[in-house]
Amino acid sequence: MGASILILGAGFGGLETATRLREALDESFEITIVDQRDFFNFGFTKFDLMFGRREPEECKERLSALDDKGLRFHQAVIESIDPEARQVETSTGPLTADYLLVALGADIAPEATPGFLEAGGHHFYTFAGAEWLWPLVNDFEGGQILIAIFDKPYKCPPAPYEAAFQLDDFYRDRGIRQDVAIDILIPGPMPLPVSKSVSADIEELLTSRQIALHTNHKVVEVDYRAKQAVVANQTRFPYDLFIGVPIHRPPAVVLECGLGEQGWIRVDPATMRTRYERVWAMGDVVQIPVGNFAGPKAGAFAEDAAATVAGDILRTIRGQGEVSPYQAQGACYFEFGEGKVAEIAANFLGGPTPDLTLNGPSLEYRADKEEFERSRIEKWFGT
Ligand SMILES: Cc1cc2nc3c(=O)[nH]c(=O)nc-3n(C[C@H](O)[C@H](O)[C@H](O)COP(=O)(O)OP(=O)(O)OC[C@H]3O[C@@H](n4cnc5c(N)ncnc54)[C@H](O)[C@@H]3O)c2cc1C
Repeated sequence: MGASILILGAGFGGLETATRLREALDESFEITIVDQRDFFNFGFTKFDLMFGRREPEECKERLSALDDKGLRFHQAVIESIDPEARQVETSTGPLTADYLLVALGADIAPEATPGFLEAGGHHFYTFAGAEWLWPLVNDFEGGQILIAIFDKPYKCPPAPYEAAFQLDDFYRDRGIRQDVAIDILIPGPMPLPVSKSVSADIEELLTSRQIALHTNHKVVEVDYRAKQAVVANQTRFPYDLFIGVPIHRPPAVVLECGLGEQGWIRVDPATMRTRYERVWAMGDVVQIPVGNFAGPKAGAFAEDAAATVAGDILRTIRGQGEVSPYQAQGACYFEFGEGKVAEIAANFLGGPTPDLTLNGPSLEYRADKEEFERSRIEKWFGT
């Protein structure tokens, strides 16, 4: 009684869902996964590139390996989606499916902040962006580094703070930290507004490492000629190296197809279903409200959503089965430099209010982080 399942996006969410479905269904179910790239890389490996700790090739997992797992990997750019017909146009031709999952992540729009691209457009939010930062970080001999979060939402909310801690550590090792000032400008009142206590922990750690945090400082423009970041209240911050967290947007193909008519795709968190029949969406491309906040965009939560999506697809196919609702539960690892890692353990939807705790930093959590990466590679790509 086979059927075709089409998964758009071979990121955290798409890979975890494909793996779960392949384990549960026999070969009469054809599972195709489409991505424009021929490799996957973990978000956090971008820091390994930015700090020259790993070669780019060491951070890439080849998606062609999925074919040996009983999946069909199709490398193509998705050009349009017809959710009504569950049909997709790609750069290599059309694809149709009985069951469709959209897991296309979030795009970045560095051009949306005036002057940012002219200032170099430096960021660590893509593989290429992180690679380009390494020579700049490596050659920097002293001066002012600014890290600015332009707006929310953005992927991996702790990432800009991780970047700052690792810059601090890098220049300490070089013996020039006293010549380097590191400031972070953020649009909101605290590092992670969803948790006052974790925000307070992060602020304390930033202070202990002489990293200055400027809350409620939304950078609206980069005056690249004067080398100054311009804040909404018109205060100016001079810089020698400017690193931005670009504005994030749903992929254009999602905005254009009706699925993301309000921007990010809205789904039912109990099932991750969209308003179209047999069409699901998950991961960074969806927005699930958490009280007054938007649900987090991070791989750990995309992985949690995969349990719900795969469960609901299986229930739809079989006409029975239990599905555990998405709780936005998971642990994000947080780099502190000095070889140490902390864990932010979170459950956003499982209780009346989001529950977040910061554990560590310690050397033990580094081992946990390494095991997290190793086990996912084994599960998704191992034979
Ligand atoms: C610096 C940094 C550090 C991070 N650290 C962590 C961390 O420690 N822990 C954590 O949990 N998360 C972390 N993240 C966040 C994490 O990487 C993302 O949240 C996660 O990958 C989202 O998974 P996803 O499946 O929704 O989307 P993605 O993993 O982004 O996958 C989407 C896929 O869709 C493909 N795609 C998009 N548009 C098209 C198209 N038109 N045609 C074809 N293919 C397309 C893309 O190529 C991509 O492979 C970090 C991110 C960054 C940038």
